[in-house]
Amino acid sequence: MKQIVFTFVFQGPVRNFFRTFTSNLMNRRLPSTIPNHSTSIALTHIPFGLRGHRLLSVEEVPRGLACDCICPACGARLVAKKGARQAHHFAHYRGHACANALETSLHLKAKEVFERVRRIVAPAVFLHRQTAPVFDAQLLRFERVRLEQHLGSVVPDIILETGPKKRLLVEIVVSHRSGSAKVRKLKKQGLSAIEVDALAIYRQMIKDCGEFRAIDFEQALVQGLEHKRWLFNDKQQRIEYKLRKQAAERPAKHRFFKGYHGYIVPGCPLEKRRWRSGFRQGEYYANLWQDCLYCHRRFEIVYETALAGFEEVPQHPLAVVCWGHLPLPGAVGWASSV
Ligand SMILES: [Zn+2]
Repeated sequence: MKQIVFTFVFQGPVRNFFRTFTSNLMNRRLPSTIPNHSTSIALTHIPFGLRGHRLLSVEEVPRGLACDCICPACGARLVAKKGARQAHHFAHYRGHACANALETSLHLKAKEVFERVRRIVAPAVFLHRQTAPVFDAQLLRFERVRLEQHLGSVVPDIILETGPKKRLLVEIVVSHRSGSAKVRKLKKQGLSAIEVDALAIYRQMIKDCGEFRAIDFEQALVQGLEHKRWLFNDKQQRIEYKLRKQAAERPAKHRFFKGYHGYIVPGCPLEKRRWRSGFRQGEYYANLWQDCLYCHRRFEIVYETALAGFEEVPQHPLAVVCWGHLPLPGAVGWASSV
């Protein structure tokens, strides 16, 4: 019944009035700083067309079929749409559907950019549970570049190299992020790798400025940090491994105090708490649940296990492995993170 009334009311002149009314309202509310065509750019637009072996952005070609470009994904002819209403873009000639055009063109463009510039601003490197970086974000320059070549069991999109030792892999993602299996392979071979999300950069640009410009895309790929992350960093793992080896295992002691069970770790090097009285007066300790559990220098809590059914399950804490007695590995400003 409700539906019938609804369709009846929203027909003919009533509907037209409602439409103009809401669109007027919407237009008035839109901020005037954004250019007129900004809201109409869609994720189906193709930012780059292929001419021969060159990827061209829409600014570099004449309007219409004269652009002489094909779709990087399916090879169909493209037209450059450079009208007044929408942001300039490529579209398939006689508009057939092509699902991968955007992803493929971004992927190809990103590879072309890194092949040409051979440098990248790498994000900061953080050690396990640390909030201060051990390596700051830095610009890394390389001498050679290889695309899509085997490196043991992985085939990275881009390999940046200087000499035999300095090597960085760059993965361009446009649809799904790299899984844990890939990270495990990188770890096994000790290959440092950065993941760059090209599609996220594209989306961000359209959201922020309402149009896509090839030069800004290149800038965001090389200089930007927002859509980059370390998949694996070899130096970070080496430092963590060294810290792990030098870490101390401090036994935890059960304490029943004022009706509550708790665990304390005597001799906390970070001096979390201090005995105020008794024969241990003046000595330092830590409260396992309140201090060690959230401590940035704690590697692991060792539990006593018991066999329950078929498997060993943790029962209660035995010790805390921490590196509180070691100095914090400082950020080595001049050193490269790869
Ligand atoms: Zn296509």
